[in-house]
Amino acid sequence: MELHPSLQALTRAAYDLEPSSEHVEFCVECLETLRRLRGERDQLSRKPSLPGRQNGVTAFFARLLPNRG
Ligand SMILES: [Zn+2]
Repeated sequence: MELHPSLQALTRAAYDLEPSSEHVEFCVECLETLRRLRGERDQLSRKPSLPGRQNGVTAFFARLLPNRG
């Protein structure tokens, strides 16, 4: 079996910046790492990192929701 891809390569695959190597599909260790990285990615995408952007999103939804007084 070939060597494990580097963590950088797995990270790029997890963020869909490049396709994961075939190795990952057959390596439990790399699959587990990829799953963890994708989980972190999903958490990050749910929480906007910039406060200004978060306020913008809140204002955006506030306009969509009916006023409740
Ligand atoms: Zn591996």
